[in-house]
Amino acid sequence: MMSYTGQPLRAEICQQFDGVGMTSPRTRQRLIENLKKQGFLQSGSVADAMNMIPRHLFVDPAFEHRSYEDCALPIGHEQTISHPSTVAMMSQWLLAEKPINKVLEIGTGSGYQTAILSALCQEVYTVERIPELSQKAHAKLHQLQAGNIHFYTADGHWGLPDLAPFDAIISAASPEELPAELVSQLKDGGRMVMPIGSQPQHLYGFIRHGDTLQQTLLGDVSFVPMRKGVAQ
Ligand code: SAH
Repeated sequence: MMSYTGQPLRAEICQQFDGVGMTSPRTRQRLIENLKKQGFLQSGSVADAMNMIPRHLFVDPAFEHRSYEDCALPIGHEQTISHPSTVAMMSQWLLAEKPINKVLEIGTGSGYQTAILSALCQEVYTVERIPELSQKAHAKLHQLQAGNIHFYTADGHWGLPDLAPFDAIISAASPEELPAELVSQLKDGGRMVMPIGSQPQHLYGFIRHGDTLQQTLLGDVSFVPMRKGVAQ
């Protein structure tokens, strides 16, 4: 598969994958407008990226016609692509203050959030514990010529110690407790966003200030649990 080129995801490539009807840019735009009206999304770089990226490429073909509804959809292996409203909220929180050079993502899943990070950050490191999902996401992002992403099959609880520190960390899987390893791999002043706990799960934003973490509750959400180990 494609080697690292440093090239972010670009509009002219995304446009080649635009569909018609339920997968058209018009339908996608309507979703973005609705997310703005509902207060999940403001105008800016995240809205532009969500308007650009063909989410229908990342869902199971049987559900393609529902790609531009604000819902989670199956992606195989009992996992789901996150709600667009959740992706909007998490991405905006991460990028609220300053540009991100190096970002760590836990739970590649379909690769949709990874695509957004590719468009908005300089370098993306994404970790998934199910090898087939990682490979599928890699293939899709290769098709889209996103060349600034490094893919890893690993247990995200441990982060990527050899590649730390990161400017930002985002997780789409919910650990029981905040993994200390991830905190230690976040740069001073860096931002992290992830769900924690199980039933209910709470979505938190964190900012590291030296040895302390500033914590903000962003809302109640429903994510898959962060599981231990790599899937066989
Ligand atoms: N952002 C993705 C979310 C997929 S769901 C998307 O929108 O498609 C969350 C993903 O986290 C699943 O693919 C699941 O396999 C993965 N996951 C769960 N525990 C993990 C762990 N310990 N390390 C890495 N990935 C994990």
